Amino acid sequence: MSAPTSSLSATARAKAEMLSQQWKGTSATGGNTKNFIGGEFVESTTTVWHDVVDPATQTVLTRVPETTPEEFERAVAAAAKAYKTWSRTSVLTRQKFVLELQSLLRANSDAIASSIVLEQGKTYADAQGDLLRGLQVVENACGIPTALMGDTIEVSKDMDTSTRRLPLGVCASIAPFNFPAMIPLWTLPIALATGNTLILKPSERDPGAAMIIAELCQRAGLPPGVLSIIHGTVPTVNAICDHPTIKAVSFVGSDRAGRHIYERARKTGKRVQANMAAKNHAVLMPDANINHSLNALLGAAFGAAGQRCMAISVAILVGGAQSWLTELCDRAKKLKVTQGFEDGADFGPVISTHSKTRIEGLIASCKEEGGSIVLDGRGFQVADYPNGNWVGPTVLEASTTMRCYREEIFGPVLLVLRAETLDEALNIVNANPFGNGAAIFTQSGAIARKFEREVEVGQIGINVPIPVPLPMFSWSGNKASFLGDVPFYGKGGIDFYTQNKTTTALWRAEDAIGTQASVNMPTHR
Ligand code: NAD
Repeated sequence: MSAPTSSLSATARAKAEMLSQQWKGTSATGGNTKNFIGGEFVESTTTVWHDVVDPATQTVLTRVPETTPEEFERAVAAAAKAYKTWSRTSVLTRQKFVLELQSLLRANSDAIASSIVLEQGKTYADAQGDLLRGLQVVENACGIPTALMGDTIEVSKDMDTSTRRLPLGVCASIAPFNFPAMIPLWTLPIALATGNTLILKPSERDPGAAMIIAELCQRAGLPPGVLSIIHGTVPTVNAICDHPTIKAVSFVGSDRAGRHIYERARKTGKRVQANMAAKNHAVLMPDANINHSLNALLGAAFGAAGQRCMAISVAILVGGAQSWLTELCDRAKKLKVTQGFEDGADFGPVISTHSKTRIEGLIASCKEEGGSIVLDGRGFQVADYPNGNWVGPTVLEASTTMRCYREEIFGPVLLVLRAETLDEALNIVNANPFGNGAAIFTQSGAIARKFEREVEVGQIGINVPIPVPLPMFSWSGNKASFLGDVPFYGKGGIDFYTQNKTTTALWRAEDAIGTQASVNMPTHR
C-alpha cells in the first residue's frame, strides 16, 4: 500500500526534495540508495531491491539494493587495499579526519535528522538526539592520540619492552533501524581513528543517515576505500560473516540476528561484539518523587515509540506506589502521537506495518492470558495521516509468565507489575534473561545502594530512566543482551578495534665493544 511522494506533508516533501538534491548516496523522492565503494557512490546492478517506506504515510522514499556478490567483493578489495596505506598514516592525520568529521556532522545535522524523521519516523527533536549521541562518540574519538598511547618499561639492563595498539584490518559494522545515525557512529569513528578500514551495513529500513555520514567522511578527507557502505539483508550479512579478509564484526540489533551473526562470524575466527535485545525494568518505590518518577517513566517508555533498546518496558510498582497507576495512564493519554515534523510531536509511528501488527498481537495476548489492558493504543488514528503505523500509548497489567512480558515488544507499550517489597522487585528483574538496563526511583540512599549492588543488569539508573553511558565509558549491557567479550565505544571500543603488539628490544651499550656471548636462559635480572 505504498503512496506517491505527494502524500507527504508540505514540510516533509520539502525535506525529501532537499535530501534528494543535495546528497549523492540517498534519495527521499523515490530514487535508489547507492552503495559507497572505493570512494564512489555507485548504483547497484542487483535485481533485488527493498523499499524504504515513510512509516507515517507509506510513501516509498527510496529503494535499497541487495548488494551483489561481485559488488561485495569489490568493497572488501577496496577496503583491503586502503588498509595498507590508512593503517600507516600518522595518528595525527587520523585525528584530523575525526575533528573535521565532527564539525561537518554538526553543520549538517538538519539533513541527517530530516532523513531519520522521514525513514524511521521519530520526531525531529528525537532525531537530533539520535545524531547527538553519535556525535559524542566522534568527539571522544578526537582524543585518539592519547587513547592509543602504549606502555614501555626497561625490563632489564638496556632491554625495553613496549606495547603498542595496532589496528586489526578490514572490519565490518551491522546496524539496526532504531538509531540510524547513533549506532553507525558507535563504531565508525573508533574503527577508522584506530587505523582500520570499515564496511558498514546500515539497516535496510533507514539507510539515509549512514549515506549522508559517508559523504561527510569523504568531505572530511577520508581516502577512497577506508569506509565502504553496502546494503542488503541476510545474504549480505552472511557474506560479511564468512569473508576471510574481514577481521572483526560489530553488530547491534535483535536477539535472533545477533546470535546467528555471532556464531557464524566466530566460525571464521572473527572478533565479534553483539549488542542485542532487552527488557528494561523501572522499580518505583513508594518514597520516590512521584512527579519526577512518572515523567521519567513516560519519556523512557514511550519516547521514540518505545523503539529504543534502553526503553523502560516494565514498571514495577512497589507497595504504596501501586496507587500511581491511574495518574500514570492519565499522563500517558496526553502524549501527542503524530508525524515527526509536526509541532509538539511526542512520538511517531512504529517502523512498519508488520511491526504494528506484531505489537497489537502482543497487546491482545495480555488479555488472552489473563492480564488487563489498562490503556489501549490499538486502532489509534492520527488526523491527516490515515495510513501511518500508529500505536498509541499502551499500559498493560501483566505477570511474568505472559508472552507480553517474555518477549521484547519494541513499541509504545508499558507493562506494569506489582511488588510488595524491594526484594520482590529485585527477584523479578534478576530472573529476566536480558541485562541491558534497569532503573530505580527512590529518595533513599540505602534503597538505591542495595538495588545498585544486587541488580544483575549492566546499566543502572538511580532516579535516571535511561542510563546510557556517555562515550568516555563503554556500553555495558550484559546477560542475554550481549554476546562477545569487549564492549562498544569508550575504552572497550579502542580495545575492540586494536590488537597489542609487544616488542622486547636489546640495545646493549657495551655490545659496541664487547665480544663475550651469553648462552644462559635470559632471567631478566
Ligand atoms: P534486526 O536484528 O532485525 O536488524 C539488525 C541488522 O541485522 C540489520 O542490519 C539487518 O539487516 C540484519 N539482520 C536482520 N535479521 C537478520 C538475520 N536473520 N540474519 C542476518 N542479519 C539479519 O534488528 P532491528 O529490528 O533493526 O533493531 C531492533 C533490535 O535491535 C531490538 O531488538 C533492539 O533491542 C536491538 N537494539 C539493541 C541495542 C543494544 O545496544 N543492545 C541497541 C539498539 C537496538
